[in-house]
Amino acid sequence: MSDTQRPTWCDIDLTALGNNYAAIEAHVGTAQVMPIVKADAYGHGLTQVALKLQDLNAPRLGVAYVEEGIALREGGITLPIHVLGGAVERQIPLFIEHDLTFTAPSVDKLNQINEAAEAAKTTTRVHLKIDTGMERIGIHHYNADTLFEAALRCPSVEVEGVFSHFASADHPDLGFARLQLERFLEALEFFPRHGLATPTRHIANSAAILALPEAHLDLVRPGLLLYGVTPANETSTIELHPVLSWRSEVIYFKVVEAGNPISYGSTWAPTNSTRVVTLPVGYADGYRRALSNQGQVIINNNRHNVVGRVCMDQTMIDIGNTSAFNGDQAVLIGSSGAHQITVGDLARWSDTIPYEILTAITARVPRRWHP
Ligand SMILES: *Cc1c(COP(=O)(O)O)cnc(C)c1O
Repeated sequence: MSDTQRPTWCDIDLTALGNNYAAIEAHVGTAQVMPIVKADAYGHGLTQVALKLQDLNAPRLGVAYVEEGIALREGGITLPIHVLGGAVERQIPLFIEHDLTFTAPSVDKLNQINEAAEAAKTTTRVHLKIDTGMERIGIHHYNADTLFEAALRCPSVEVEGVFSHFASADHPDLGFARLQLERFLEALEFFPRHGLATPTRHIANSAAILALPEAHLDLVRPGLLLYGVTPANETSTIELHPVLSWRSEVIYFKVVEAGNPISYGSTWAPTNSTRVVTLPVGYADGYRRALSNQGQVIINNNRHNVVGRVCMDQTMIDIGNTSAFNGDQAVLIGSSGAHQITVGDLARWSDTIPYEILTAITARVPRRWHP
């Protein structure tokens, strides 16, 4: 850390990321692994994570938006990049210019892509998106033939893949996920029925990689798992290590007398005189306000409670009768001694999901990458 760096930061362990990638690869056997690096690689740093995966010979990468694909190209990524979200018509030329792989969720969109490719005198790769139960983008599974037939009439488009997405593969009851998989496989029968080679088939996100081996098919799309976090706090059948840790430093110490409330709204006051430290982190950094009077941090090998409301830039911690000095570290996510605070813990305490915890950590928090 540079001497002048902000006393709240994230460490990103790229070795752990590489190990998680290898563990997922081993787990899915012959299926290809397409790491998902959208949303700044779930807060871990888009380019840094992508370059690491490129070094590890990942076959391709997945992002949500065309802008993320362009940022990867500008950062030196030469791998195939699949943009999972739909393209708006005016952005179609950007895909072609930067050699990004399209998602075609409808016949109209497919035709627009075909025309743009034709105009640019090139052919372009697409993955057709089938909706098997998400009711988000994608042609309904019972109409999929229409999209497949349209693709046969698009000479400037190469259908590289066909994919779908699970709505609830992280539920204990996998009934709906199994139904979605069944619908997907049924739609795909179009190809053998017409004597055509089946494109690359994919449907498995992190939850399905863990819970539904029969859904691995030709390619899997892990996001969260890659970062060493499981979707619903389940125990993982794959050995994973958290990639991100988040630390801050004590910047103020005081004794608060019994009955004196702490922070906005006076939501908490000690019943006995206690020691309270202030950390320079708040909800504008992504340390969510919902952690007020709910969260915990580790300071000097003890777990302590967040007391009072989390502010925009500062958070107070009751350290009881223990001691802490300015400059002592506070672990917001990560391990220290015998204690660990996980992304899943923060999600539980603030009534959300691990995805939102990771992607909420704002750009104000410096990241330090460790090879
Ligand atoms: C984000 C995303 C994924 C990755 O999801 P995880 O649950 O993080 O593994 C996979 N597929 C699609 C279409 C996505 O949008």
